[in-house]
Amino acid sequence: MTKLSYPPKRVLMGPGPSDVHPRVLQAMARPTVGHLDPYFVDLMDDIKRLLKLSFMTENDLTFPVSAPGSAGMETCFANLIEKGDKVVVMQNGVFGGRMKENVTRMGGECILHETPWGEAINPDDLEKVLNDNKDTKIVAFVHAETSTGALSDVKTLTQIAHKHNCLVIVDAVTSLGGSELKVDEWQIDAIYSGSQKCLSCTPGISPVSFNNRAIDKIKSRKTPCQSWFLDLNLVMGYWGENSKRSYHHTAPVNALYGLHESLIMLEEEGLKNSWQRHLDMHHELIQGLESIGLKAIVKESDRIPQLNAVAFDSNIDEAKVRKTLLNTYDLEIGAGLGPLTGKIWRIGLMGTSATLSNVNHCIHSLKKVLP
Ligand SMILES: *Cc1c(COP(=O)(O)O)cnc(C)c1O
Repeated sequence: MTKLSYPPKRVLMGPGPSDVHPRVLQAMARPTVGHLDPYFVDLMDDIKRLLKLSFMTENDLTFPVSAPGSAGMETCFANLIEKGDKVVVMQNGVFGGRMKENVTRMGGECILHETPWGEAINPDDLEKVLNDNKDTKIVAFVHAETSTGALSDVKTLTQIAHKHNCLVIVDAVTSLGGSELKVDEWQIDAIYSGSQKCLSCTPGISPVSFNNRAIDKIKSRKTPCQSWFLDLNLVMGYWGENSKRSYHHTAPVNALYGLHESLIMLEEEGLKNSWQRHLDMHHELIQGLESIGLKAIVKESDRIPQLNAVAFDSNIDEAKVRKTLLNTYDLEIGAGLGPLTGKIWRIGLMGTSATLSNVNHCIHSLKKVLP
């Protein structure tokens, strides 16, 4: 054992990862089995069942990609885009920018529409972009933009995209488990999330789900998916329904023990109760922040409960504040990104981190540290 064997015990209130519950960490310490062990096959089935509950979907092709949220993003874009496909990306922060990057690298033609950072995507803008681009095949956008704290109306945006015969790819990395999200009812075609935000598992796994429209497109590709690892036609042999569970790659067995436990905890709490807890804690936090002079930058109706972007006085040395919070109060909060660098903090209330004691710890610590 060295000093590095003992990580500090932090309170994680940034943009992810969030606090991991001891039950999840204990689950990860269970004995490793082979990734084709009958026990593990049963566990895989239960993970799929629980992911379907969390996404509110009956999609058979719902499973965890063995890599972080960014790999879930690539899984959607690499499988659904063929060379020359026109893809509309409705960007309102960092992650929409990465979507554009994916489209271009997959050989698609990206039509990028930019919304000012801190605002939700305007459905009228999507309608206009699609009217101007009749040959669009896919529309992609982020549900909860973690870089700005703005929540977009997935249901309405999806309806508009479908009216124009487009498939929809949704980034739900920060929303799954924390905000209302109904994959089947809203008819989302392809969606990806992450393990380390509102599911409060360790980082490194990306739940995804695809409906039949998306699968039809994948099965009728003229050219193979450019990524071997993410090619769903191959991955389905391991994770697919009634598949032989044949070897594709070695699943991260212990990480999936953790994911399973975190999903069981979500099932025990109830999905809707979890959404409500995030909302309640968000109201507590905003009230506390306002009492010490910090203001949310996103208008009230568009806020993500689990990611609060707040502005501070321009004379504050924001990096120094975060450093003191970490060193003195073991509290991590996030900095601003892109055009919001140095202008905001991002205070997360994700999963296990969304508790009253964390809210109080955050307000108390900020009060002590702020000049
Ligand atoms: C965190 C995040 C990602 C990326 O997830 P990683 O696990 O870091 O790869 C993608 N989209 C959004 C909205 C995120 O918040």
